[in-house]
Amino acid sequence: MTRARETDAMAATGDLPAAEFRRAMHAAADLAADYLERVGAYPVLPRVAPGEVRAALAAAPPEAGEPVDALLADYRRLIEPNVTHWNHPAFFGYFAISGSGPGILGETLAAALNVNAMLWRSGPAPTELEEVVCDWLRQLLALPPVFTGHINDTASMSSLLAIAAARHRVDEGAVRARGLSGAPPMTVYASEQAHSSIDKAMITLGLGLDQLRRVEVDEAFRMRPDALAALIAADRRAGRLPIAVVATAGTTSTTAVDPIAAVADVARRERLWLHVDAAYAGSAAVCPEYRALMDGLEAADSIVLNPHKWLFTPVDCSVLLLRNREELRAAFTLVPEYLKTTEQGVTNLMDYGPQLGRRFRALKLWFVLRAFGAEGLRARIRAHCALAREFEGWVRGTPGWEVSAPVPFSTVCFRSTRGATPEEQDRINEAIVAEANATGAIFIGPTKLHRRTVLRLAIGNIRTTREHVVTAWRVLREAEARAAGAPGKD
Ligand SMILES: *Cc1c(COP(=O)(O)O)cnc(C)c1O
Repeated sequence: MTRARETDAMAATGDLPAAEFRRAMHAAADLAADYLERVGAYPVLPRVAPGEVRAALAAAPPEAGEPVDALLADYRRLIEPNVTHWNHPAFFGYFAISGSGPGILGETLAAALNVNAMLWRSGPAPTELEEVVCDWLRQLLALPPVFTGHINDTASMSSLLAIAAARHRVDEGAVRARGLSGAPPMTVYASEQAHSSIDKAMITLGLGLDQLRRVEVDEAFRMRPDALAALIAADRRAGRLPIAVVATAGTTSTTAVDPIAAVADVARRERLWLHVDAAYAGSAAVCPEYRALMDGLEAADSIVLNPHKWLFTPVDCSVLLLRNREELRAAFTLVPEYLKTTEQGVTNLMDYGPQLGRRFRALKLWFVLRAFGAEGLRARIRAHCALAREFEGWVRGTPGWEVSAPVPFSTVCFRSTRGATPEEQDRINEAIVAEANATGAIFIGPTKLHRRTVLRLAIGNIRTTREHVVTAWRVLREAEARAAGAPGKD
């Protein structure tokens, strides 16, 4: 092919010629597979200073188009080494997540389809697949068939939608129609350990942070139902309008599970919407023994769980399961003339939230659920929890260390007890995090419990093996020895 004809073909489509695209996709597949094969060789946190990446990038867009090979080469040289490697098997920070092979395939093909499934008409298969995979997830969680699902980007959005639906139920659509002016203060209840996304929902929905009640927790960091009932009663006496309770199944700090059944009793008595934030631990509920820790889940009005957290699905993918999805629709449906379609009895996903357009997220989740099967998912979750219990045992068995909270799932909160004062102990534990992460061998994060610094090891990456957890414990003890200025010993 002459250069002139090639130029003509590009001019004709305006896009990459098909043969060129095919070749580049194969090259991208090699890049992705190479990356996943050797990601463990990277330092988990890239050794890059703020501004360094920017300085290596062209400051202005190119005037003439560049060959894709140049883009792929720069991706490999400038981008890949300079990300925090969430796919690294020794990533133990936040909640460890991972894009599994099947999930990455689904994400890639969804990009090729580029469907915007706002209406059934604008995406029949994506709409119906979303309903089917959400129903599969419902079955995996042993929830009754009344629950139906809706996929969002994040748990933050899922919880916001749940609270919006709760408000719509209690105020019978008053805020939807007339806005907040003139509305009574509306209160929401969540534990002291609940995720900050609930605070953000209060901000975004105009309910106000002052109307979020932080319910006291017990010694295992679980919401106290008696304290919840007392707060609701006080708000009613003061003329406020309680609308929702948010229980957490797997809090962000310690993965504590609120007593959902008891909280559900209070919510039912008070006619409040019960939302369960199970963004992380909801994945564990595919195993009957972990589902049993969430007794009462079936009484919720809504439940959020993030397959992108611990179900091996690439970000983003958050599933909101609703007892009555029509309540969410009632809060958000609005059909302008140009979006009216003639199909009857179909789901139009745009009706269930503020966004019109939406990505086709169900495909990657479908691939993951099918490729691993329920059995495969349970095996992986159980393996992670077993590793966490083993790690917990090592900490308990080592003088100068302690476990700081119960370990119901795959996350361990622990600390070094070296140091004469609480402040000195905090300093040592903070230094352990910094030292351990600086090695590049692992990445962990700190949290605060009872105002003291605690280390937090979260296992959730599909590529993590026992060997990586062994390494983490060794690196942490060596870091402690350096931080406390004493020789390390086994
Ligand atoms: C991670 C997490 C969230 C936030 O998830 P996003 O999807 O990032 O919004 C909310 N709640 C809990 C309990 C979490 O663990």
